[in-house]
Amino acid sequence: SSATAVLKLNELNERQYEAVTAPPQNMLVLAGAGSGKTKVLISRIGYLIQAHQTSPFSILAVTFTNKAAAEMRHRLESLLGQGSVGSQYGAGGMWIGTFHGLAHRFLRTHFREAKLPESFQVLDSDDQHRLIRRIMKSLNLDEKRYPPKQAMWYINGKKDDGLRPKHIDTFDPTEQVFLQVYTTYQEACDRAGLVDFAEILLRSHEILATYPEVLSHYRKRFRHILVDEFQDTNKIQYAWIRLLAGGHAGNVAEDLPPAHVMIVGDDDQSIYGWRGAQVENIHSFQTDFSDVEVIRLEQNYRSTANILKAANEVISNNTDRLGKELWTEGKEGDPIGLYAAFNELDEARFIVGNIKKWQQEGEALSESAILYRNNAQSRVLESALNEAGLRYRIYGGLRFFDRQEIKDALAYLRLVSNRDDDAAFERVINTPARGIGEKTLQMLRDAARSQNMTMWQAAGRLMDEKHLSGRASNSVKNFMDLIVQLETTVEPLPLHEQADHVIQSSGLMAMYQAEKGEKGQTRVENLEELVSACKDYEPDENMQEMPMLAAFLSHASLESGDSQADAYEDAVQLMTLHSAKGLEFPLVFMAGVEEGMFPSQQSSDAPERLEEERRLAYVGMTRAKERLFITHAETRRLYGQELYHRPSRFIAEIPKECIYEVKLSTQVSRPQSGYSGGYGGKSSYGEQSTYSQNSGYSASNSSGSSTGHGGYQGERNKSKSSNNFGSGFGQ
Ligand code: ATP
Ligand code: MG
Repeated sequence: SSATAVLKLNELNERQYEAVTAPPQNMLVLAGAGSGKTKVLISRIGYLIQAHQTSPFSILAVTFTNKAAAEMRHRLESLLGQGSVGSQYGAGGMWIGTFHGLAHRFLRTHFREAKLPESFQVLDSDDQHRLIRRIMKSLNLDEKRYPPKQAMWYINGKKDDGLRPKHIDTFDPTEQVFLQVYTTYQEACDRAGLVDFAEILLRSHEILATYPEVLSHYRKRFRHILVDEFQDTNKIQYAWIRLLAGGHAGNVAEDLPPAHVMIVGDDDQSIYGWRGAQVENIHSFQTDFSDVEVIRLEQNYRSTANILKAANEVISNNTDRLGKELWTEGKEGDPIGLYAAFNELDEARFIVGNIKKWQQEGEALSESAILYRNNAQSRVLESALNEAGLRYRIYGGLRFFDRQEIKDALAYLRLVSNRDDDAAFERVINTPARGIGEKTLQMLRDAARSQNMTMWQAAGRLMDEKHLSGRASNSVKNFMDLIVQLETTVEPLPLHEQADHVIQSSGLMAMYQAEKGEKGQTRVENLEELVSACKDYEPDENMQEMPMLAAFLSHASLESGDSQADAYEDAVQLMTLHSAKGLEFPLVFMAGVEEGMFPSQQSSDAPERLEEERRLAYVGMTRAKERLFITHAETRRLYGQELYHRPSRFIAEIPKECIYEVKLSTQVSRPQSGYSGGYGGKSSYGEQSTYSQNSGYSASNSSGSSTGHGGYQGERNKSKSSNNFGSGFGQ
């Protein structure tokens, strides 16, 4: 048929074909990495549109990153023709996006039901942390005893589980404290019209659950729901899908059959358990939804046989698996290259040297990726790439809109657009310095809290009632006048001139110009870049009714690293292992594969967490199509500490015939002092040797015996957890 030709269905294997062309029904595609799950999902959408004349309007597709969503749209258009899936935001268009992206869009439409101001703002994890800290201060809580990060973790966790303070009952004294923070924090957010990432999902779920007419509208619309990377959905995301799909008690439109849901996933790639993802959702799906057809794919099309064998072997050390084997018809390929660096600089040089070689062989930089466990590892890699003159891009973590100077400028803009934005108020009231001290700030906070007002209102009140000292009162008044005046001046201007004016008149530009050195220079450039970002900005259709500034501010909060750099530029791809999920590259480096880093220190004592780390290793290895290098360093400077690490147990889990040890042919002088252990000791550079398995990797007895920095890593992990919410928006 024509559908077969257009969709290239003949390229699919038998099982894939079955999944793609099945009659509309509930389906679960459960399969390992690189077996074509995402390909099946996309082909399925194409098939529904082509062969079943399904309108794109009635399709809801959930991806894990914005990048994946854009790619899906692109692939569908190239299969079916330009404009075939409708404009992204147009009424006739398909909804494709991440859970957070889609729920945010939903909230924008239903701000009234959500009891939010029309131009409500999204609080990112940094703002959230700041706000929580302030609230804890106002509640006189000791930060040491009750770390704000932990409170944030608590709040987000509860929201991910769908729980409001009123649903929580606890006799645990510590939890009672966090619960109180949650309550107060939520009141502050509601007052100021702010939503955090977890709130986006929770609130949109609540609207669906409370407004039958809204629910029924969307149920009528979305007849087909498809979800990629399903193993990493959390409770509230699952509930959201379940509610939208209908088909169980409480179906509002009695005559409306439930939607058809197709989920694809891999339990071996569940890597967000620490963030509340529940792999059990895969099981629940089979019981909560009727007549689920389960399809398993076993042929891998991505990696060479060597890489696949190694990855299969590593993951087989996990106990808690649904169980599946992957095979390939592909070529054997090169063995995995293992490099033992003596420190992190050596490691970075090794990686960069190999990428250079790759480039000299005529390959594209963008076909290579460096994956690491912790964001902080990127700095050294970046500087080595810079030194070598290689372009690179970072996904996630270091987003443009996350940079300090950009957040300062955005805070001014936010305040101009909404006086009640406490997070913004706090951020810039004394930036640049205006002589407003901690004492004055504390008074404002106390007043805001006790009188149930926003900081802006409280400031006005305190001045009216002459509670502030003359000097403080003057400074606060100047600040408030500045904001009011900024608003009047910028209102008639086009967006980029608004930004430019605010950056200049607020004193931010002058402040960063005065900052010496490279850093100040970069910040000034970034502020300039913000003006260009405003110039380039075009609001999505569903935000066109909003003032440009408010629309841009939401865009900035939601924007991910995806679009920070020029997507067409040929550049090495850098990212954490977590954000590499779903992607593939011909050449992959996994850096810092060391006990204490990967697996992380804390996970080595907890079997469940260790298994999650191993799944992460599996995800990392299976990103590689042709060449995979694994590196580790004997000593490493990280977070300002000198660390001595053994090679990761995951390395020892790779069959020895799949791996070889790379020795540099040039003589490298090794540091005299320090660590001389490693595997087998005799690591004389200058020869090519085959890696031998029994030379001291000793997986079984190395229960994470690296030198201690556990506490620190524990902290890091927590902070990472929170800002990793960002990946819902796409990294
Ligand atoms: P992951 O679990 O990592 O998300 P996946 O199961 O989603 O992987 P895909 O990304 O869909 O796998 O596919 C992996 C690679 O294999 C892609 O390059 C895809 O184009 C290719 N591929 C999938 N199926 C086939 C096929 N039948 N013939 C040829 N190539 C295929
Ligand atoms: Mg995939």
